[in-house]
Amino acid sequence: MTMKISRRGFLGVSTFAFSVTMIAPRVAFAARNALRSMRTGVQPGNKTRLVIETSTRPSYSLSYPEKQLVVDIANMAANSSVVAKLASGTLVADVKQVQSGDHLRIVATLRKPIAELQKSQIMLLEPNGDNDYRLVLDFSPTSAEKIAAAVTSGGATQNKTAQNKNIIIIDPGHGGKDPGCIGKNGTREKDVVLSVGRKLKAKLDAAGFKTYMTRTNDTYLKLVSRAEFAETHKGDLFISLHANANPSRTVKGFSIYTLSEKASDEEAKKLAESENAADKIGVDGFTEFERDIRAALSSLQQHAVAEMSEEYANGCARAFRSNKVEAQPGPGVRHAPFAVLRSTVPGALIELGHLSNAGEERLLKSPDHQDKLVAAIVRSVKNYNFDV
Ligand SMILES: [Zn+2]
Repeated sequence: MTMKISRRGFLGVSTFAFSVTMIAPRVAFAARNALRSMRTGVQPGNKTRLVIETSTRPSYSLSYPEKQLVVDIANMAANSSVVAKLASGTLVADVKQVQSGDHLRIVATLRKPIAELQKSQIMLLEPNGDNDYRLVLDFSPTSAEKIAAAVTSGGATQNKTAQNKNIIIIDPGHGGKDPGCIGKNGTREKDVVLSVGRKLKAKLDAAGFKTYMTRTNDTYLKLVSRAEFAETHKGDLFISLHANANPSRTVKGFSIYTLSEKASDEEAKKLAESENAADKIGVDGFTEFERDIRAALSSLQQHAVAEMSEEYANGCARAFRSNKVEAQPGPGVRHAPFAVLRSTVPGALIELGHLSNAGEERLLKSPDHQDKLVAAIVRSVKNYNFDV
């Protein structure tokens, strides 16, 4: 039925479009986008997430017919080998692909009507080690439905808001027998990150967040224990603080990393190796991690954690730039198999700067510069959408 409609539409265009036939070859030769995967999941706050993975950056439009969410993606052909993975308990009952001329129309049939999506509910994620481009759409039932649900739950919504303090886990890297990297003038990574971590805790506490530090003094803590700490303290966000060293003393600037099986570049891979060295964990220890985490999370939830981490990391890089902290040249956010990030808590590893650079070693030691770094991280936490 749907194929008939789309074919008729296509023929309709080609029969009257004499004057635009010159456009046709251009469309035919344009690089086509390809549909890679589709899936749904449940997000905190009982939101539904629809993720559409594509080979190139999608050009899309949205529409909301009765009990449907329709995503039109330009320059894309239907891909029958892609079947949407549907999680249970979401608003999406079914996802279909319908070819409409040069557009692929992705039609999600909903169990309840939804309002038009706000910009903040739509994310377009860049490819990382394991994924291509992802268009991420989050939604909940319309407000009328929400009000009805709140009434039937007897005001439970209000109680939840009062108790719902977001929990931030602050992880100052290294410590004790493991100094991390050491600057030319003897500044130790473990001291810089502990100082920044303490300041960050004070500021986040003052801003109304609940915070826990994996270490509050100069003690050695295994990477696995840090990840476990984030789990047992039910963290909403995990921030691991580090400072970098580079064989070239001219390299400087901050960089931000999220977890992925494959490193985004050779430098990120080397960095993960050196940060993992504290526990003698190879970057290839990913299968073991996956076996452990599989017991705790479905693959859809794992994807959700990865997406939330990436969203935080991108926002964090933006906050550092806005606060005029110098960035290391290259991509804003990189990816590598860091052992400390292997948990079910979304988060990122921040390399605050380079101790191998004399100027930056001086900065990293200075209380003023540490305050500047802390202000940028606080900004990134405040901007992060915990409800997504
Ligand atoms: Zn480190």
